Amino acid sequence: MNTPIMTNPETAVPSRAPAATTPDDTVLPFEVASLDLRGRVVRLGPAVDEILEKHNYPQPVAKLVGEAVVLAVMLGSALKIDGRFILQTQTDGPVGLLVVDFTTPGKVRACARFGKEGVEALVAAGEATAGELLGKGHLAMTIDQGTDTSRYQGLVALDGGTLEDAAHEYFLRSEQIPTRVRLAVAEEFTAGEGGTRHRWRAGGIMLQFLPKSAERARIDLDPGDAPEGVVLPQAPEDDAWVQGRALLETVEDVELIDPDISSERLAFRLFHEPGVRVFKATNVRAECSCSRDSVEAMLKSFSQDDRDHMVEDGKISVTCEFCSSTYVFAPGEVEAKIEPKAS
Ligand SMILES: [Zn+2]
Repeated sequence: MNTPIMTNPETAVPSRAPAATTPDDTVLPFEVASLDLRGRVVRLGPAVDEILEKHNYPQPVAKLVGEAVVLAVMLGSALKIDGRFILQTQTDGPVGLLVVDFTTPGKVRACARFGKEGVEALVAAGEATAGELLGKGHLAMTIDQGTDTSRYQGLVALDGGTLEDAAHEYFLRSEQIPTRVRLAVAEEFTAGEGGTRHRWRAGGIMLQFLPKSAERARIDLDPGDAPEGVVLPQAPEDDAWVQGRALLETVEDVELIDPDISSERLAFRLFHEPGVRVFKATNVRAECSCSRDSVEAMLKSFSQDDRDHMVEDGKISVTCEFCSSTYVFAPGEVEAKIEPKAS
């Protein structure tokens, strides 16, 4: 079979069949030019497994963190600048805090804080859904270019819904870009030497309607201060977006995770009729950015009194919440390196 996947006649790019396999830990951007749609497929294997294995969270918490990792990779890998993309939830549910930190071009780390009893109670009641685990609060997305002046933060309310719901809401309100995302996380069990091996896998797909023409870009705006009783004409939803969104609804979780269904095959399955063009995939890996130097710098910024209170069993030990690495300092070690202030 030699079915074309790249069918954009304008750019006369060569057509070829979709690749049969996708390397794990990759992001594949694609474009459906005839429908003004852009998107990306995220496929995570060892990267998400490493993050979740290290933390050993209860299963529903791990699944939720996995979803957040996919979402952060999806959005962070689309950044056109060098920097960090931080996705953070703060809510009143059993999982009170969840942080995913993506550094361009493809480093990711994640952690969560949760109440064990609250999670167990939800599991026992069979209600450990994303919405129940998170509860109410907000989701913040921060782009950090490394300088104080170039931080951008977008906020969206979390109100008992999923991370997918929050992402849709965010793009609609803050960016005014019609967007649909699908996220999936699963455990894979394989029989092998020494018993069953357990691995986490995750994946996702994002689709955005980004029309080039102003007429198509028009979206329904809030009527604002139109006089009461005045019926404003409603712009009909663009057919291209209705079609794209409907196609995305047909994606099954297994298609986002199964290594036998490649990212290109998924894009082709959805968009072979209008024609889909894929771009170069980028790689993702699990890596923490903590170091002895950065921990030391943090300790230096504390007061002497605060440092003294951190001494336990004759040493100061600091454990990174993202990767569980522990850094140990002797009392006085940090002070000795602080430059005396010029008086
Ligand atoms: Zn770390």
